[in-house]
Amino acid sequence: MNRILIAEDEPRIAAFLEKGLRSHGFLTAVAVDADSATQIALGSDFDLLILDLGLPGKDGLEVLKELRRQCEKVQVIILTARNDIQDIVTGFEAGADDYLTKPFRFEELLVRVKVRLRNSTPTKNKEEILLKAGDVVLDLRTRKVTVGEETVELPAREFTLAETFFRHPGQVMSREQLLDRVWGYDYDPGSNIVDVYIGYLRKKLGSDLLETVRGVGYRLRT
Ligand code: CA
Repeated sequence: MNRILIAEDEPRIAAFLEKGLRSHGFLTAVAVDADSATQIALGSDFDLLILDLGLPGKDGLEVLKELRRQCEKVQVIILTARNDIQDIVTGFEAGADDYLTKPFRFEELLVRVKVRLRNSTPTKNKEEILLKAGDVVLDLRTRKVTVGEETVELPAREFTLAETFFRHPGQVMSREQLLDRVWGYDYDPGSNIVDVYIGYLRKKLGSDLLETVRGVGYRLRT
């Protein structure tokens, strides 16, 4: 499942984008200013960023330049009211992969998102397709999970949660990080949904796979 970060300070547009993208099977998160957009894009594994340029704090172009300075490979589609040819050229020069001007039609944005994600797939490393821990193997291409010889079915959220751990072996992941990465930002941080899903994974993948780190979160045993 592809993860899309929406950097947009206009709540109506952000909600419209989230609703549309989610209904097409994407996981989404929203950043409402430039600093949080930079921080979230650098700190989490997003496949694509939809970037407004008129953001509080800094210009969206600064966000883009910072990501490219840090060699962040996330696909970036600029979505802005700035429709001057010079702005478009500047956007591409700063490292954007695509540029769409407001007002826009959702269908057009969706097509562009899909094209960007399709183009980005071959850059993925071969070794990244299979993630292993103990006798558990996640195949990111087929989204199949095997425990020893046995194939285990994981629904999308559980797979994404497992993938998050497998990508950060041995690293303690806090509940907040997991909520951000797997569920997006619209969950109550007091919710116990993370613990419930950890329970599901333990049942399906083995009870010792995920270790509880008291007061902090969980860690994949290596
Ligand atoms: Ca704006």
